Amino acid sequence: MEHIFEIKHTNGKKEYLAHNFFLSSDKEAKRCKLKPLRELYRRRALKISCSCTSPKVKMLIAYREKTNTYSIRTFPGKAKEHATSCFFSSGNDDTSLATDTTYEKGYVEKNGKIEVKLDSHDFKKTNTNNLKANPAKTTTTSMGKRQNTSVSSYKSSVYALTKRLVTEAWNKSILASTMDKYPAEDKNMVYKSLKGDILWKYSIGRDQLDRIFYGGGLVGQISHLEGKSKSNSAAYTILLLEEDLTAETSDKVILSLRSPKYKELREIVVPTHLYNNALSAVNNIPAPYFIGGFLTYTSSKTPPEFLSFSLIPISDYGAPIESSFERTLFNKLSAEQRKVIRPVRETIDSSWNGFIPDGLLLDTKPKTILEVFGMSQNHLAYHEKRQIKIEHFSNLNSSYNLWYWDAFNGSSPPRLPNLN
Ligand SMILES: [Zn+2]
Repeated sequence: MEHIFEIKHTNGKKEYLAHNFFLSSDKEAKRCKLKPLRELYRRRALKISCSCTSPKVKMLIAYREKTNTYSIRTFPGKAKEHATSCFFSSGNDDTSLATDTTYEKGYVEKNGKIEVKLDSHDFKKTNTNNLKANPAKTTTTSMGKRQNTSVSSYKSSVYALTKRLVTEAWNKSILASTMDKYPAEDKNMVYKSLKGDILWKYSIGRDQLDRIFYGGGLVGQISHLEGKSKSNSAAYTILLLEEDLTAETSDKVILSLRSPKYKELREIVVPTHLYNNALSAVNNIPAPYFIGGFLTYTSSKTPPEFLSFSLIPISDYGAPIESSFERTLFNKLSAEQRKVIRPVRETIDSSWNGFIPDGLLLDTKPKTILEVFGMSQNHLAYHEKRQIKIEHFSNLNSSYNLWYWDAFNGSSPPRLPNLN
């Protein structure tokens, strides 16, 4: 869950800024927000703290004239006080969220292309025979790489990468949708936009994702793809899993997957512990999923196997979702062909203060922010965040409407907002 800065003014006013505010690449918008805060901070008219843990951790707002950047940072030596899931816990005194940096783990953008930084064991095949023959060499290479990693180049995970790709694909197909061409129940449209426009932008080291993408054709195609890729990367894939696990041996799960494009099913093997980790990462939400990961292929007699693996639960139409309640909502929206996107980096508005809505309806005037509150009412911290989000989003009423569903208390979703 996203972490939040709490800003307490000496006059009693409170406001909130989520760390995700720094996801936006709009430097000017970020300066506009931080400049007045810095001025008040300097005059001791406000206090700012990170609420990742209890008690909250005191923070400071700094300004650097030379670069005209504002930043929020932790006091020297206090990094340890943050929750491990917090950005500031990385243990470096220089760690800051600043107007000229984008806060996103593992992605480096250059000229419209995005290089993804993953742990090498997520996508590099380690040949066990080589490892035995020359263990020293292999270890040095992978360790050496890891040691060079600085705070600024945090790694992404295969889950985060796959989720990002699926979300972009969903948004793209929604933006391209028309009266008679809406993302369909066979998920093919989402898949097509993924393969058509999105994969080419992403690379892992020297390998472009669309060049090592396995679309679910012939099994032998994987070894063909691996041969083409220069740095020994396994083949990346996103395929569709429509039912929960199909068969299980002592340490492997055999999945029946398909690409929405080719209708036939493919058997692919995933080690049980990878499967279970992926499932608990999404709170055991049942199928359907887009699954994403890197595949290797050992011989023509055995099915390909996942080296790294993630499950992205989706709606019946292919929208990524984070809970069964969200699935209900997105299915309802899609059944009515509503233009609903899931805001990501490019679409976040600085007026949201880093609170990223579960959905944004584009076919109302003004646009409607959608929130689904699905966790238990007893979960105090969650409840507090719900309150903060509702208050914040309701105050944007000339630019956005707010629609929300308190699913946690068993109520059914309110009527959807009217078109236009
Ligand atoms: Zn923190």
